[in-house]
Parts: sequence; structure tokens; C-alpha cells
Amino acid sequence: MTSNDPILVAGAGGFIGGHLVRDLLDRGQTNIRAVDKKPFDEWFQRFPQADNRQLDLSERDACFEAADGMRTVYNLAADMGGMGFIEANKALCMLSVLINTHLLLAARDLGVQRYFFSSSACVYAADKQDSPDINPLKETDAYPAMPEDGYGWEKLFSERMCRHFSEDFGLTTRVARFHNVYGPIGTFDGGREKAPAAICRKVAAASIGGSREIEIWGDGEQTRSFMFIDDCITGIRKIMDSEIAEPINLGSSEMVTINQLVDLVEEIAGARLERRYNLDAPKGVRGRNSDNELIRGYLGWEPSISLRDGLEATYRWIYDQLARAEARSSIAATVR
Ligand code: NAD
Repeated sequence: MTSNDPILVAGAGGFIGGHLVRDLLDRGQTNIRAVDKKPFDEWFQRFPQADNRQLDLSERDACFEAADGMRTVYNLAADMGGMGFIEANKALCMLSVLINTHLLLAARDLGVQRYFFSSSACVYAADKQDSPDINPLKETDAYPAMPEDGYGWEKLFSERMCRHFSEDFGLTTRVARFHNVYGPIGTFDGGREKAPAAICRKVAAASIGGSREIEIWGDGEQTRSFMFIDDCITGIRKIMDSEIAEPINLGSSEMVTINQLVDLVEEIAGARLERRYNLDAPKGVRGRNSDNELIRGYLGWEPSISLRDGLEATYRWIYDQLARAEARSSIAATVR
């Protein structure tokens, strides 16, 4: 790829899409089209050097406009969120199938050469994730299929559509199954946030507001692994540049319980809070971790940024957001 090859990032106003555009620019790419359906002032990151467009990519015509003249497409656009969001919005999550369908058609018809699809660990069968000390999930565990209802089915279907567009139409596709990505400059409130951001926000809010309690969804003994955004961006690049034609895990294999995640955030914040466990809240699967044998075999690489280091950066960013909002509301109160 040369530095002026045209690249489309779909979902560029979102968390991972914003970091991807920044990374491509940092690497000297000069011809980037950044597309998202959100109004520009809601994008997490927006760069004047990119061709920024507000388009709803569930619509066919919008996908053809977005992909026109592009050689590479990264599809990171989806209606998604943490467990609270995807359990309550199954139809909305499934409607993201329109984005991938129309974008693949546009890519095929407009001569795109490489197409990346962001899949998810939610494609894995629930019965392989029913205890906290589960075996890490291998790529083959996605079948026989019984993914997360709604969101996971959409991802699995879209993965297969990528595969068949490769087989039948010769479009080169790459599919990564992301396992929980976290980091600064992403969603940390409003209902779509995931566990690391939610816990950082709750601990930071407690520190700023002087509260001594934190609510945790479930009993805190469910296990997960969390991949820092920088590893995710490196992995996307390596997978896109590789010859890996099958869906592959892109996740950390550092598994922790949610209680251990809270311990780490408290340590970073220098706080110790009383934990109130909400057993009625959405909890997702009981245990999940990424098996990285395949990615190590192909790339000699796997995500390696420690959870402690990634949380440090994430906590500081979320704390700053809350502190600034608090300062703004105090100023507003004094001038009222
Ligand atoms: P995000 O919600 O921050 O970003 C997704 C972006 O897509 C949003 O800005 C949204 O406005 C945009 N979008 C939604 N519908 C659109 C449409 N019709 N047209 C144009 N844009 C549209 O989420 P993210 O964390 O950056 O996730 C990016 C991708 O990675 C998604 O496909 C998601 O399913 C996948 N993924 C993320 C994680 C994670 O932990 N963050 C885990 C697994 C998979």
C-alpha cells in the first residue's frame, strides 16, 4: 500500500474507528475517508486531514458514496454497546447487518481490493462459556453455532457473508473477532459503555463526589479478558496486511474476574470502595478468554499490553472527563 492509497474507515466517529484513523494518519496515509452516521460534534475523534462524511451506512446509496474510489475498506460501523445495551436492543444490533451487506456490495462493485470486518467474541457458543475457569475460546468454538442472541448472530452471519464474497466474487476479506476492547477516547457513560469504562467511571465519580460505594453487575466472579486499544489497532493492521483468510481472535489472554478488574482500578485511583453486587443486572456469559494460538502461529504476535497499564491510561482519561464536567457545572451554578 502506498501512502496515498484511498482508505475508507466506516464507523470513524466511534471509539475504535477514531483511533484507527489517527493511526493511519500517523503512519503517513494521506487519503483517508472517515464516515459515520453521527453528527460531527459527537465523533470521539475527527481529523481535518481526512475526508469526513456523515452518512448512514445502513443505506445502500450511502455505502456506494462512501466506497467510491476506495481500495481498502475497514468496516467498524455497528450499533453496539456493552452487555446492558445488547441484551436490551437485539433487533437494533441485528440491523447492523444492513451496513455490512451494503458495504460488501459496494466494495465488490466498485473494485475495492481489501475489506476488513470487525467481528466479536460474541459469536462464540454460550455453552463454551458457562464457568469462570473456562478454556480460552478457539476460533473453531464458534460452531456448532449458538452465539449471543441478536448481536452475536449478526456478527456470525456477517462473517460468513465476508467469506462467501471472497469465494464467489474474489473480494479479499479479513475478519477479526475482537475480545472486549477498552481505552481512552471512547464510550464511558450513557448505557453503551463496557465493563472497564463503566468501572473506571464509577470509581472516578466516587473519588470526585466523595461516595464510598460502587455497584457491580453480577457477583463479580465472572471472568473476561480486556484488550487495550493500542493492541487492537496494531492487530487490525497486522491482520489486514496478512494472508489470514479465516476469522481470527484479536484479544488479550490476560483473564481476570470483574472483582480483580475493580481491584486494579481502585489501586490506580488510590481508593477502596464498598461493593454492592446487583445480581439482577445483565451479566453476559460466566467466563470468556481468548485463545491466541492461531494469531501467534500466523503473526508471531499477540496483544500484550498489560491490563494494569491500559487501565492506568483509561482511568486518567475518564477521570479528566468527569472532573471537567464537574467544574463546568459548578461554574454554571455560580453564574446562575
Ligand atoms: P462504537 O459504538 O464506539 O463505534 C461504532 C460506530 O459506528 C459509532 O460511531 C456509530 O455511530 C457508527 N455507526 C452505527 N451505525 C452506523 C450506520 N448505520 N452508518 C454509519 N455509522 C454507523 O463501537 P466500537 O467499540 O468502536 O466498535 C467498533 C466495531 O468493533 C463494531 O463493529 C463493534 O461491534 C466491534 N467490536 C467492538 C468491541 C469492543 O469491545 N469495543 C468488541 C467486539 C467487537
